[in-house]
Amino acid sequence: MNFSEQIMANEVPIRMGFFFGIFAVMAIWELIAPRRALTVSRAIRWANNLGLVFLNSFIVRLIFPAAAVGVAAFAVENGWGLLNYYQLPFAVSVVISVIAMDFIIYLQHVLVHAVPVLWRLHRVHHADLDYDVTTGARFHTLEIIISMLIKFATIVVLGPPIVAVIIFEIMLNATAMFNHSNIGLPKGLDNFLRLFLVTPDMHRVHHSVEDDEANSNFGFSLTWWDRLFGTYRAQPRAGHIGMTIGIHKYREPRQVSWLPGMLWLPFVGRLSDYVINRRQWSSDTEGGQNEK
Ligand SMILES: [Zn+2]
Ligand SMILES: [Zn+2]
Repeated sequence: MNFSEQIMANEVPIRMGFFFGIFAVMAIWELIAPRRALTVSRAIRWANNLGLVFLNSFIVRLIFPAAAVGVAAFAVENGWGLLNYYQLPFAVSVVISVIAMDFIIYLQHVLVHAVPVLWRLHRVHHADLDYDVTTGARFHTLEIIISMLIKFATIVVLGPPIVAVIIFEIMLNATAMFNHSNIGLPKGLDNFLRLFLVTPDMHRVHHSVEDDEANSNFGFSLTWWDRLFGTYRAQPRAGHIGMTIGIHKYREPRQVSWLPGMLWLPFVGRLSDYVINRRQWSSDTEGGQNEK
């Protein structure tokens, strides 16, 4: 059995190991050296954020039992996708695939901020009143399903090696937990990592209540896309301690910290409100989510 076959054969335990391992490291780090004081009870937030994560895992497994790896295997067998059509050295295909899938995640993130009905789903991620390792996995179930469909479409068009899909999923999961952590790195290390990797200070800017700050730093793993497309913002105006996390309009704990409220959050407010707000918003000089 070669390296790729070993990874494929042990995909689930490898992914679980990374998830629990990195989660534990970041959780302990946050406890020992938190960047900001939490504003909501950790027990309530964690129980509900992790409750949503387990609900999502269960539903995704139920709807898509083959998962992304199954779609990649299907594409390989049928010769679908660019990288199954053009034969490149295996390592080159893996690197191209991981980078390309990260780029698609960046574009998807810009999209869910720009399209009002998708923002309704994505605002569940942003409505968290604090920012810690559990925020990184807190997404509405419908957003997770849409993400999966975009990922499947990407795989069918790109035709990545199966092992690249596994590496990418582990990387995305690991970086999301890392960069949502309530920690701070030494300035020199933070600046160095930012040349390629999204750091906690960099992504925290994206969780600001301020519109222009929330519409920056869309990257999840690589920092290049934000730099390339002009959405990079180094620091929040109010500083990491002074900034406010969340969404201006939704700050009621029942609605944003408890699971039933989070699941219902996309359906709050009439859809037509967006049109009215968007008109007001476009007359404003500053961009941003129309409801903030
Ligand atoms: Zn976002
Ligand atoms: Zn985030």
